[in-house]
Amino acid sequence: MEVPERAICYRALQARDPRFDGLLFVGVTSTGVYCRPICPARTPQFQYCLFFGSAAAAQAAGFRPCLRCRPETAPDLASWRGTSNTVSRALALIAEGVLDCDGSGVAQLSERLGVGERHLRRLFLKHLGASPIAVAQTRRVLFAKQLIHETRMSMTEVALAAGFGSLRRFNEVFHDLFHRPPSTLRRDRAPD
Ligand SMILES: [Zn+2]
Repeated sequence: MEVPERAICYRALQARDPRFDGLLFVGVTSTGVYCRPICPARTPQFQYCLFFGSAAAAQAAGFRPCLRCRPETAPDLASWRGTSNTVSRALALIAEGVLDCDGSGVAQLSERLGVGERHLRRLFLKHLGASPIAVAQTRRVLFAKQLIHETRMSMTEVALAAGFGSLRRFNEVFHDLFHRPPSTLRRDRAPD
């Protein structure tokens, strides 16, 4: 599915239309945050909105996830379903960690899928608006964020469990996306 035209996206946003949840993500240029269409926060002005078909695409464009609507928990990348078997198989392999090792991962991934590396990149850009590496990184960060919220694991354990080679690498990637160290997420959490 391609992202619908801006006016339609914006109406979905104004209506907080749940039918668009998982199909549409909005990056707000004035804040640098991206949201689900159902976010309870005040609807941003039209001219500040950029629309994406996946959370990975929004992050690839430099937006960080909203901490209110938690776009990483939207129905998982629904936009690619039924559109490309190759992309869905690639995403399953990425979720298994096939790109978590090093730079040679994309070549190996395309080999396993029986397609050329450039073709795979093109498919990803068309269906998700993001490269395989960006998608893999998004998944790692979002999984790590979930572990921080939902477990008592140490930051080193979170980094390794989420597929980062080291705590240092995890801190770097996390800081790029959220503009603060991962441990602050846990400190910010309201007592429950
Ligand atoms: Zn939001």
